[in-house]
Amino acid sequence: MRDLHEWKDESYRHKWWGWGPEGLEYDMHRRPDFWPWICKIAALPDDATPAYRISRDSIKLPARKSQPEFDDAVTALLGIDRVRHDDDDRIAHSFGRSYRDLVRLRAGLIDHPPDLILYPQSHDDVVAIVRLAGDHDVTLIPFGGGTNIVGCVEPSTADDRMVATLDMRLMNRLLALDKESMTADLEPGLFGPQLERLLNAQGCSLGHHPDSFQFSTLGGWLATRSAGTQSNVYGKIEDMVLGMRVVTPRGIIETKSLPAASNGPDLNRVIVGSEGIFGIITQATMRVHPVPEFEEYRLLLFPSFRDGFRALRECVVQGVMPSMARLSDEAETELIFAAKYPSSGVKRILNGPVKRLLRARGYSRPAALVVAFEGTRKTARQLRRAIRRILRKHRAFDLGTGAGEAWKESRYDVPFLRDYLMDYGFITDSFETSTVWSNMMPLYEAVTEVIRKTFEEVTGFPGYVGNHISHLYSTGACLYYSVGGRSREGSTPEEMIEQYTTIKHAATSEIMRNGGALSHHHAVGYEHQPWIEQELSATGIRSLTGFKLCLDPQRILNPGSLLPDSALGPGSLPD
Ligand SMILES: Cc1cc2nc3c(=O)[nH]c(=O)nc-3n(C[C@H](O)[C@H](O)[C@H](O)COP(=O)(O)OP(=O)(O)OC[C@H]3O[C@@H](n4cnc5c(N)ncnc54)[C@H](O)[C@@H]3O)c2cc1C
Repeated sequence: MRDLHEWKDESYRHKWWGWGPEGLEYDMHRRPDFWPWICKIAALPDDATPAYRISRDSIKLPARKSQPEFDDAVTALLGIDRVRHDDDDRIAHSFGRSYRDLVRLRAGLIDHPPDLILYPQSHDDVVAIVRLAGDHDVTLIPFGGGTNIVGCVEPSTADDRMVATLDMRLMNRLLALDKESMTADLEPGLFGPQLERLLNAQGCSLGHHPDSFQFSTLGGWLATRSAGTQSNVYGKIEDMVLGMRVVTPRGIIETKSLPAASNGPDLNRVIVGSEGIFGIITQATMRVHPVPEFEEYRLLLFPSFRDGFRALRECVVQGVMPSMARLSDEAETELIFAAKYPSSGVKRILNGPVKRLLRARGYSRPAALVVAFEGTRKTARQLRRAIRRILRKHRAFDLGTGAGEAWKESRYDVPFLRDYLMDYGFITDSFETSTVWSNMMPLYEAVTEVIRKTFEEVTGFPGYVGNHISHLYSTGACLYYSVGGRSREGSTPEEMIEQYTTIKHAATSEIMRNGGALSHHHAVGYEHQPWIEQELSATGIRSLTGFKLCLDPQRILNPGSLLPDSALGPGSLPD
């Protein structure tokens, strides 16, 4: 097994059943305290044996639909190597990477894989493919890294036309960099590490690091309205984009790259978040910034989640934002410490006199805050001074940079842990929302309680529910829940999905009842559709439907994602 943190790989392909490339898995053996902790929390016997997934060879896919004229035309256009329909490619493009997706992959429940995978290399390729798809009534699904967790690259079961997935990975160039204005023209198939490498080589950075950074793409980020860990200073992806080139069945939308404008409704904002249903993004002009001269991560402890919450809010009110802040509640903090390597600085610090001192001072069940400061050395240090003053006022105990850097090193490990736990029949996923400061604690408590209660009712076992506050704004922040625990004893894969769906439904309904966002950064896809009208209003949905049907009257682009089929059927718009 390779070391998760030493990994260098340029293929950006997931193993067929999970996260990351084959051979790269969670190193539980290096964390001796973690497995006993998990067993205790989830009421799992220490000697439980993993129930392995089925073998890849035993997966039988349904025969692919074929339209020989379309197949011939795209093969003539792209060449045989960039038109694929082998089983490996079809499986790799069947789903995203949600819990539901992984259960189905592991069990070989792949009823509706795409029929063809196309690898365009240029804007002109995409224009030609969209035209051919329209001529032959073939549906098209744009595909970045396939990391979404809401079902938005999954062929719709309600549409029986041929499906061609457009894997955008070969459109991975930095087309131009304007260092005077600090803008970059980029192709959408760039994966996070590729994009940063290209920009860093010229002293620039986009500064967008979602937790899926290693395997997700610029096009996917734009199409889902993604948020990176440093959104406090650089904004969400919609705040970074200046202009786009988008291929629709009705023609090309090009938005000008301007610092600001008053030229009617902002089309960039309509395209961003549209999950590939309005058009295929073939180029984006993004705001960039200099590679930070200074970067520092620190880990601090508060006596309680509430103390940390008050401290973050005061930072925001005083206008001093760390580039990243992630405040874990007491449950998530326990998990963070249980998962540490024994050799890590945090464990050494915490075991021994410091632990006794903290206990005596009221930190018996602390809440951890990871903060980052970046920029020029001078500004980052000034900011650090101002922020630490506020944090100390709210009783933060600073564990220093070693603990912060250890967190940074392992920040992309979580999906590997999910794979590990799924081997033991765990249900595990994350739910997220955002809300205003005044509603943060009531929403946090209400949703946590509902998830905990529903998990136990549905599975018969206690569930782990942890939370963090991240992505700070002047008016509020994102709340992010991690959920995990055993599925009901002896569950089939279908039953696991049913249990998961009940928990997810209860959590989302409670979020909506408490005024939270349907999603802060995970998008809508298929998973969040039941609540989309409640979120945007019936008239809001009708206006998006009008936009969709104007650009894509045959509904060939990503059917089933974002807008419910019922919104797009006959009579959905007034005559
Ligand atoms: C472990 C894990 C951690 C995650 N952490 C974060 C996080 O911190 N922040 C966050 O925002 N999200 C996160 N996500 C969700 C996911 O990574 C994001 O939604 C991401 O933006 C998807 O990018 P992708 O390249 O994988 O897109 P895909 O999953 O391939 O596609 C997503 C959507 O974009 C469309 N699309 C892709 N390319 C184009 C294009 N060129 N033109 C038009 N449409 C296109 C697809 O059709 C689809 O609708 C996480 C997911 C996982 C599994």
